Amino acid sequence: MGDRITSEKVVEEAVIDNEKLHVARSTWRDAAGLSFDLYRSDGTCLTDDGSLDEHPSSDDLRKLLEHTRLSSHFCRFCGKQIPKADPPRIVSMADSATNPWCCAGCLDDRLR
Ligand SMILES: [Zn+2]
Repeated sequence: MGDRITSEKVVEEAVIDNEKLHVARSTWRDAAGLSFDLYRSDGTCLTDDGSLDEHPSSDDLRKLLEHTRLSSHFCRFCGKQIPKADPPRIVSMADSATNPWCCAGCLDDRLR
């Protein structure tokens, strides 16, 4: 989200695979048209790689959610998705067979 967005409004709430998703519509100061972004209920953006030009169908929502699940890392402690904007944090003490990722909220000095 940059300062070029003049307004952003949630226009739809959808539940896909038991996950609540919000579709937000943005208008832009120096570009015509609208863009749509998809958020999880915890505020994680699923359209970081590029906003959508049109209001997504429920098929689109499902595809985006599946893509995100396959391509993202989840915290080994709280299970939350780690935002792509965060620097990667790997718990050095993690066994090689377990998930080494840790979110900013769960990281503490003992884990570095
Ligand atoms: Zn965590």
